[in-house]
Amino acid sequence: MDFNLPVKKSPFRSIKLYASRLEKLHISTHLDFIYHMPSRYEDFSHIAPVANIQVGEIVTIHANVIDAKTSYLRNRKSIQRATFSDGTGSIFVTWFNQPYLVKQLPVGTSVWLSGRADIFNKKLTMQSPDYEIETSEPIHTGRLVPIYPETYGVSSKWLRRQIHSLLKEIENEKEFLPPYLLKENNLMEYPLSLQKIHFPLSLEESNKARQRLAFDELFFLQVSALHRKREWKSVQKSVSLTVSKHHEKLEKLYNSLPFTLTNAQKKAVEDICSDIAKRSPMNRLLEGDVGSGKTVVAGIAMYITFLNGYQSVLMAPTEILAMQHFQTIERLFTPFGVRIGLATGSKKIQLDDFDVLIGTHALLSEKIQFKKLAFVIIDEQQRFGVSQRALIRKKGISAHLLTMTATPIPRTIALTMYGDLDVSFLDELPKGRQEIKTWFVPKDKREAAYRWIEQQITKEKSQAFIICPFIETSESMQTVKAASVEFARLKKDIFPNLTLGLLHGNLKAKEKDEVLRNFNNKVFDILVATPVVEVGIDIPNATIMMIEAAERFGLSQLHQLRGRVGRGKKQSYCLLFSDAFSKTSYARLKAMEKLHIGAELAELDLRLRGPGSIYGTEQSGKTLLKIATFSDTFLLQKAKIAAEQIFPNMEEFPEIRGKMKQLQTQDISPD
Ligand code: ADP
Ligand code: MG
Repeated sequence: MDFNLPVKKSPFRSIKLYASRLEKLHISTHLDFIYHMPSRYEDFSHIAPVANIQVGEIVTIHANVIDAKTSYLRNRKSIQRATFSDGTGSIFVTWFNQPYLVKQLPVGTSVWLSGRADIFNKKLTMQSPDYEIETSEPIHTGRLVPIYPETYGVSSKWLRRQIHSLLKEIENEKEFLPPYLLKENNLMEYPLSLQKIHFPLSLEESNKARQRLAFDELFFLQVSALHRKREWKSVQKSVSLTVSKHHEKLEKLYNSLPFTLTNAQKKAVEDICSDIAKRSPMNRLLEGDVGSGKTVVAGIAMYITFLNGYQSVLMAPTEILAMQHFQTIERLFTPFGVRIGLATGSKKIQLDDFDVLIGTHALLSEKIQFKKLAFVIIDEQQRFGVSQRALIRKKGISAHLLTMTATPIPRTIALTMYGDLDVSFLDELPKGRQEIKTWFVPKDKREAAYRWIEQQITKEKSQAFIICPFIETSESMQTVKAASVEFARLKKDIFPNLTLGLLHGNLKAKEKDEVLRNFNNKVFDILVATPVVEVGIDIPNATIMMIEAAERFGLSQLHQLRGRVGRGKKQSYCLLFSDAFSKTSYARLKAMEKLHIGAELAELDLRLRGPGSIYGTEQSGKTLLKIATFSDTFLLQKAKIAAEQIFPNMEEFPEIRGKMKQLQTQDISPD
């Protein structure tokens, strides 16, 4: 079977019909099915004769239909009642609103039934059990049954059936790791682990399968990192940028800043200076929590580049952010004679003659003449992914590279995962930052919260963000529409005496720019926005962040959003609203009240919601890890050792390379 066959072209008709629904689960090829991992298992493995069933137990029986009929109620509702016997005794079963079922259950049909046994009217019963008809090898009953992440119209049962039949087609999948590695690391074989992750005989077996697939994932990631490192090093020399002749000018710059640098910022600047003095290109990651002050570090590096007579580029993930960086950097450096250009998809300033160029990734694809480019900075690197570095390389640019991220990965793990990078950590927030007071607001306090916001704005001259829920993906039309409706409502009914602005991704860059400038200049009291403001925006006078449908965000994202306030000296506040009443979402949102460090929140989400929550697709396109988690430090270590052993001799392992290519692990193939 062709693993990489798109589901749209699947020979399985039912799969083909479901293509658009499956997109929501990020399933677009047969392979994605196989790698759609169960989130848990239902334990229906206890099979018993009817005579031995204990009341209250979860049990599977294999029995024949004695009779089955439907009775109709009002409102087109119906009940299906059936009796089954397996020779040792009989059991009465009811289902609701499944009239087609009766047709499938003619007298004598043999059926598997899994569910909770109960007593009703002194009779042994089962309500709405899972069932399977006339099969020798049950997959929905009588075993550990995998439960999958689902979406509208795509049930676990349907997924299970497809995955089960696809697994039958993969007998030509082979082991690709050398036998000694399997033995050393006590790993299950690859083809077997694909079978067993979906259809294990025991939880132990599923754990072993998961371990194996997680190992692969971590191993591939590190092989990729080693590969990128070698590529990076193989490149021709870049220029050496030094500070020795420019101490005085740097001192002047530092004195012009409205604050003194934190020790962590100073250390990061030192790290960078020592890297860029060398002629081999720097490849450094600057990791720092929201508000730790990464921008100014980037700014200083660009100024040093300028002092050496070279150009630098700062690339941001969104136009809004690029524009804001442009304004910040302009304010800081224009007095020092630095010429600053801007290049986003829709706005261009001074492209012929610049020392510093700021923009979105558009600036890489534009036909911009870099005459003396020596330094490239990528902000919010998690949004771009590793491939941007490859892109820069493709442009033939051999500049020093600094990537910046607020993704809170613990130090030791960052060092292993980004094996190809040097890392500086801004692990200290600027002085005088106050903790942002955070409240999860109950439904009946909504009105009071609005009045409190109004009071803060009129009395304290503060400003507020109101973040509307994202619906589907963050900038879909529905999201924009919902935000516009909410904007109108707030303006008319809730805050008629205040001025409100609206910001969403569908605005033209010029309009976004204007909205933000107006907010910054206090023309608006309140900025109503879709979650586009999530990354990076800096409005020091804003002190209130109100977030609707907060449960839809990962905690790290909420932390990012909250980080939009609390940037000035005034006390700041974050109000979380949510209509979801699951225990988990309550616990998560309550945690926002207590925890204020990005890494701690990330770890909690990891425990409560799994790895997707940090590297949510919303944030980063494709998730970094599907199976393994970063808390798997032991496995991470093993995979690292294996990667370091194998990588230098990769030519001897074409199967590994083939598998990486098939799974589309980035940046591996040199061809
Ligand atoms: P992030 O790391 O999230 O990108 P920014 O670079 O946007 O953070 O900085 C957040 C805010 O903190 C900005 O308003 C910036 O001017 C301010 N800032 C940066 N460094 C310091 C410092 N050392 N002391 C006080 N404020 C600082
Ligand atoms: Mg930033």
